Amino acid sequence: MAVKDYIRERFFPHIWCAGCGHGNVLSALLRAVEQLSISKNEIVGVSGIGCSSRITGYVDFHTLHTIHGRALAFATGVKMSRPELNLIVTMGDGDALAIGGNHFIHAARRNIDLTAIIMNNRIYGMTGGQFSPLSGHGILATTAPYQTIDHDFDIVKLATAAGATFVARTTTYHAKQMTDLIRDAILHEGFSVVEIMAQCPTYFGRKNRLGDAVEMMEHLKNTTTPIGSKAKQENPDLIERGIFVQKELPEYCSEYDKVIERASKG
Ligand code: SF4
Repeated sequence: MAVKDYIRERFFPHIWCAGCGHGNVLSALLRAVEQLSISKNEIVGVSGIGCSSRITGYVDFHTLHTIHGRALAFATGVKMSRPELNLIVTMGDGDALAIGGNHFIHAARRNIDLTAIIMNNRIYGMTGGQFSPLSGHGILATTAPYQTIDHDFDIVKLATAAGATFVARTTTYHAKQMTDLIRDAILHEGFSVVEIMAQCPTYFGRKNRLGDAVEMMEHLKNTTTPIGSKAKQENPDLIERGIFVQKELPEYCSEYDKVIERASKG
């Protein structure tokens, strides 16, 4: 199948602002499934609420556009009942890690075979530019006109500590790496997390005077570096990109099958 076969053309043009990073992520996701030649009948896309969650409207998979913060809970239910399907859960930073924070931690802990793609643009875009747990300290937002005083946290470290068996990070600037990491995450058997640092020029960019989408993507390029690079040793403030965790552990649905087997013998 070609990339265009995975799109619902009838829902275009999309609702995203010009230059929004979510379009870059949609492109990478489509290229990843096209490379894997997965039948669209074997993919379930699940999202919560937010600009990023509109992705499920544009992909011609089985899709569920659910409620705020609960995408992973819905995806867990689908996966438990149809473990042969590929579950791809697309979320924004607030959806995944504020409202959905508990679901995120426990999906990781269970090692259920879901692919979680977190589009981290550090803002609630759809509702008007409120700061999120990923905004960071000293940021301007509609709910922080005198700058945020909250500190953010590291998605990679949180996912790793919670037990995710595949953890990666990239940015919308790094288009090929984005496709490669989504593909590897889909192939991974277990809970996989791909953080994609993305630009919201309309709110985060405008409020914080970061320029247009191109300038914001250049900023993503200039503030990140591959894991273990010499540049990181010279400048510890650089954010690392690549695969941080890739390990095998028993997958939740397979383990649950064993419980059913033991119960039916008992
Ligand atoms: Fe994208 Fe921000 Fe516009 Fe939402 S508000 S569509 S995140 S640019």
